[in-house]
Amino acid sequence: METSPRLPAAFLAHGSPMLAVEEDGVTAMLRRWGGSLRPRAIVVVSAHWEAPGPVRITAAERPTLIYDFSGFPPELYDLRYPSPGDPALAADLVKRLESAGVKAAPDGRHGLDHGAWVPIRHAFPAADLPMLEVSLPVPRSPELLAQLGMALAPLREAGVLLVGSGGIVHNLRRVRLDDKDAPVDSWAREFDTWVAGRIPSLDPVSLSGYRSEAPHAAESVPTSEHFDPLFFVLGAALPGDRPSTLVEGFQYGNLSMRSFALSS
Ligand code: ZN
Repeated sequence: METSPRLPAAFLAHGSPMLAVEEDGVTAMLRRWGGSLRPRAIVVVSAHWEAPGPVRITAAERPTLIYDFSGFPPELYDLRYPSPGDPALAADLVKRLESAGVKAAPDGRHGLDHGAWVPIRHAFPAADLPMLEVSLPVPRSPELLAQLGMALAPLREAGVLLVGSGGIVHNLRRVRLDDKDAPVDSWAREFDTWVAGRIPSLDPVSLSGYRSEAPHAAESVPTSEHFDPLFFVLGAALPGDRPSTLVEGFQYGNLSMRSFALSS
């Protein structure tokens, strides 16, 4: 019987929505990285889908795209990514989460938000792989997010790529959207470096105290939705995994683009 290689769990920084139409070091990395993988499906936890109640899993046959940004050039709204859904896989995800003690439900109406489709479209431009999204619970804790990752981690041995899409430093009040190459703010760099130093332990607990332990946490993570997918990814670590940095650095002065993958 053919055994499929383990697929990574990856944290991808999705930056500004402009990443959808730009070519830079980040998009080049995404293309290269995606081209090296052969998943049968992609499951994404994105910063841009927070939902109270049961954890929701997109379950449409043909998920639509959500253009959840405003004030950007019209070309962004013309982009398409017609990846199929996979209702059977969605049902499997619901079962796995429920078995782990997490209430979950399929959602046949919700589409794919830009935190999910922007990076995945660069990584897998053919749009031929089923893509699902898992919502961020409200309320939530780092422990709960790690639990979601742990519950879905075995799927990595069955051809499923797990992705957390967000950003380690993400403060829309401080970001300088008029200057992609703005000098990097020291507070952003210090926080990003603190987090990067804890990723190799693959232990969500080493990061869960970031609010009180890390330098400039309040400024770097004013609200947690872009940071939280990190706990999902670390929770999805499997024995033998090692982290590799896919890209690091900043755009717009303080938007961390640090992205990494866990693989064996
Ligand atoms: Zn975002």
